[in-house]
Amino acid sequence: MASMGRPTPSLKRRDSMVSKEGDQLIITPLGAGSEVGRSCVYMSYKGKTVMFDCGIHPGYSGMAALPYFDEIDPSIIDVLLVTHFHLDHAASLPYFLEKTTFKGQVFMTHATKAIYKLLLSDYVKVSKVSVEDMLYNEQDILRSMDRIEVIDFHQTLEVNGIRFWCYTAGHVLGAAMFMVDIAGVRVLYTGDYSREEDRHLQAAELPQFSPDICIIESTYGVRLHQPRHIREKRFTEIIHSTLSQGGRVLILAFALGRAQELLLILDEYWSNHPELHNIPIY
Ligand SMILES: [Zn+2]
Repeated sequence: MASMGRPTPSLKRRDSMVSKEGDQLIITPLGAGSEVGRSCVYMSYKGKTVMFDCGIHPGYSGMAALPYFDEIDPSIIDVLLVTHFHLDHAASLPYFLEKTTFKGQVFMTHATKAIYKLLLSDYVKVSKVSVEDMLYNEQDILRSMDRIEVIDFHQTLEVNGIRFWCYTAGHVLGAAMFMVDIAGVRVLYTGDYSREEDRHLQAAELPQFSPDICIIESTYGVRLHQPRHIREKRFTEIIHSTLSQGGRVLILAFALGRAQELLLILDEYWSNHPELHNIPIY
């Protein structure tokens, strides 16, 4: 499985399906194996190769933030599937497209592509690294836009005998979970997903086919979250009590997607509390 002895994301598999006609299905995490960040998983089976996600590690800068691309030969990858626009899943893409030998096809959903451009342009602008440490510039991002193809949810596409389609993942606008079918063996790669419907997104779908192998995001896999209504109540209570005492509240919402959800929570709370109507939200 992991060819270089690095820890891996949690993998569930039916052993009977892994080896078929003597071929080995190889899955190699190039990032996000027992770490959070730089999601990137390489998979090959029967001479076909797929890469899932192409993120950076937000804790590092320059080349150190990249997934371990030197473990693979980018020129043999047929298709690269990007689940969503967050930097830890998509921000190595301009580098991979412009500065490696990769010549395959790249797919993401329409919404992911639109927001990818905004988010990465912003990332380049706020990066405080020296010019020689920059992984790419605005021009590389624009050129990557020409290479990225789009896929609709539930649309089935085929590249070099690799069939794939995607399901909604919840999480953020456009986020997708990809199912890949190579010679009848199905692999589901989730990326970040949420099984809970929130104010602006539906929950992750349950695929209609069971995968043979599931590569699943497990950052919070062993942690229990408090129920959403309790977390929301705590959030709105702290804000309300601060404002009632004449205070002001600064909310550091750094992840695109989360900020939108917080605004919707506040909007609903404001509607139910006329005494707050003279207090603006910026
Ligand atoms: Zn994410």
